[in-house]
Amino acid sequence: MKKIEHIGIAVKDLDSSCKTYEQLLGVKHYKIEEVASEYVNTAFFKVGDSKVELLEATAEESAIYQFIQKRGEGIHHLAFAVDDIYAEMERLKKEGFTILNEQPKKGADNKLVCFVHPKDANGVLVELCQEIKS
Ligand code: ZN
Repeated sequence: MKKIEHIGIAVKDLDSSCKTYEQLLGVKHYKIEEVASEYVNTAFFKVGDSKVELLEATAEESAIYQFIQKRGEGIHHLAFAVDDIYAEMERLKKEGFTILNEQPKKGADNKLVCFVHPKDANGVLVELCQEIKS
């Protein structure tokens, strides 16, 4: 894995949280994007080499909705950039990690993503993401 690409934060209300994070970070978000397949709205902020992703649920089926019901707002996942997500998924499976999806899926911000089960990473949901080259 190359670096922490972004930190995902579960929020109840994207509009007000965007304002809060704009004040906190001193930069405006550079993108708002809905990922309809995941029932989330996202906002991205650039902070140096890393990013912050705010995630708001758009339906009760959303993992973000369920996360907030259980644990409240807060850090939801850590995302690591990888060059080859397929190779990295194979490597992690061999190491005994549970990958939450069979195949990488299209995530926000032009990425292929997959998730490692938090039970295998001390309670932390880990995302792998690879830039989609167009
Ligand atoms: Zn993410």
